[in-house]
Amino acid sequence: MISEGREAIVIDPGCWTTAEEHALEAYLDENGLTPVRLVLTHAHLDHVFGCAWMHTRYGLLPQLHATDLPILRNAERQGRMYGVACAPVPEPEEFLKEGDTITLGNTELRILFVPGHAPGHIALWCEKERFIVSGDVLFHRSIGRTDLPGGNMDTLLASIREKLFTLPPETVVHCGHGPDTTIGEEVRLNPFLR
Ligand SMILES: [Zn+2]
Ligand SMILES: [Zn+2]
Repeated sequence: MISEGREAIVIDPGCWTTAEEHALEAYLDENGLTPVRLVLTHAHLDHVFGCAWMHTRYGLLPQLHATDLPILRNAERQGRMYGVACAPVPEPEEFLKEGDTITLGNTELRILFVPGHAPGHIALWCEKERFIVSGDVLFHRSIGRTDLPGGNMDTLLASIREKLFTLPPETVVHCGHGPDTTIGEEVRLNPFLR
């Protein structure tokens, strides 16, 4: 997320290798961007790998929904279990919840609480610029898995129907994995929500 004032919000820093950290740093440098906030849609490993580095490099602490804090605190142990090293994630000082707004330049992002894939999953909706960062809730013709701790299929489907499918159909969905889509397309074509 980038504002006209060249400030940026980094969402879900999945950088696992030093090369991936350098790629993010180079992108920020080349575009003259200063990261001012670090937001996590949820605390699964692949979304938090870069948190320790973001803290060392930019002094930012992660912000997320409080319900995912136990998962965040477990990241290093989870990494060992799966054989993918994850540096301990620094403790958040601020939490985000349904209805909060984050200001970036002259744009506002609204926090939507969309549990089901993870118990404390949030999405960031920009009404003005017609997009949403949906993490692992809704994908192009697919949805997030619900077999990880705290996951629940009924909860996930309710989150999508009640929070995402009620947004304007032209809203672009930036998914946590895979290509972008739009709310309207997924309302019509997503096979999991017929
Ligand atoms: Zn996930
Ligand atoms: Zn993911």
